[in-house]
Amino acid sequence: MTARLIMHVDLDAFFASIEQHDHPEYQGRPLVVGAQPGQRGVVATCSYEARQFGVRSAMPISEAARRLPPEAVYVRPRMARYLGVSQEIMSILTQVSPLVEPVSVDEAYLDISGMQRLIGTPETIGRRTKQLIQEATGLTVSVGIGPNRLIAKLASDFRKPDGLTFVPVQRVQAFLAPLPLTVLRGVGKKTAPLLQRQGLRSVADVRGLTLLELRKLLGDLAGSRIYDQARGIASDLILPGRARKSISKETTFAEDVTDPDTLRDTLRWAAQEVGHIARQEALKGHCVTLKIRFRGFETHTRSWTLSVPTSADQTIFRQAWEGYQGESWQGRPVRLIGLGLSGWESGATSLPLQGELFTDETNPPSDEREERLYQTLDEVSDKFGRSSVGFGLQRKK
Ligand SMILES: [Mg+2]
Repeated sequence: MTARLIMHVDLDAFFASIEQHDHPEYQGRPLVVGAQPGQRGVVATCSYEARQFGVRSAMPISEAARRLPPEAVYVRPRMARYLGVSQEIMSILTQVSPLVEPVSVDEAYLDISGMQRLIGTPETIGRRTKQLIQEATGLTVSVGIGPNRLIAKLASDFRKPDGLTFVPVQRVQAFLAPLPLTVLRGVGKKTAPLLQRQGLRSVADVRGLTLLELRKLLGDLAGSRIYDQARGIASDLILPGRARKSISKETTFAEDVTDPDTLRDTLRWAAQEVGHIARQEALKGHCVTLKIRFRGFETHTRSWTLSVPTSADQTIFRQAWEGYQGESWQGRPVRLIGLGLSGWESGATSLPLQGELFTDETNPPSDEREERLYQTLDEVSDKFGRSSVGFGLQRKK
């Protein structure tokens, strides 16, 4: 059995880095992509200069503004541009290995097993990847290489920005031991205190517990997973077809509907279903799509881009419902209505569950821009993902 070699590529402060690249006058300055100071809203991403002042993703903009000096820059997100760059980078990665699994707009796993003979040492493969991306986009990435996904991901986190960390099999245990136990997947707000109350702090501490003790503490499933991870045991499978493009729910009415309450309730139900699946799969989407079909099969779709990705039912519903109300569709008999969530953002960021919509983003961008955005997303997923996963659920009466 050959050992696998997995590479995790993570763009550094992705949205903020693009803004600094496109506007050289912003370089070296604290920069926030998100709401404007004085508005309601949050930080979507910030530059490393801003992070030095303690500013973080999902922080209220008022708090960020309080922490940052006057020379800080605040820019509104340009999702179409970011997704275009994301697509470019994903296609560069396929030049490195055909086995690329994008996990979000700014993150991907690659299987680079057996490529040493073609390209060189793992470090050489990592450096070459960084160089290709830098030359094409001017952006830096952090790269981690290890025997499985967990180690590759922790290695890319290890040194940022512009990092390159290779953890060979024989160094896995030493690499993991001093890291805080919160780096293990599945150790979250509920699990971490359970472990910390036992006086455990590091991964090495967790290794001191038996499988039985961990299962008793965390339950069978989580206990086993954390037991394995503490020993560096994790999946090394890269599934290029895994990234799902969107989650959607739609309903075809038995009889055409004109009653706005029924339409609103149906959208609320669809948002709950979509939000539920998204949370189960730890996905948060930037794009909400409303689909509506009138009598006579005239079908429209409208899409909106959120600055902060969400899996919250209420945010998804509100966007779709406000979108519906913003059109002159009231009173028209509806045959089918549904909504979708897509444009996944990194699952690894510690954004709170309740993503927040920017207040002035209820004005949807022009159709043309939306179309381009969706083409971009479609191209990314057609190239890398399985075809759209839609659930044409018939709603029971
Ligand atoms: Mg990143």
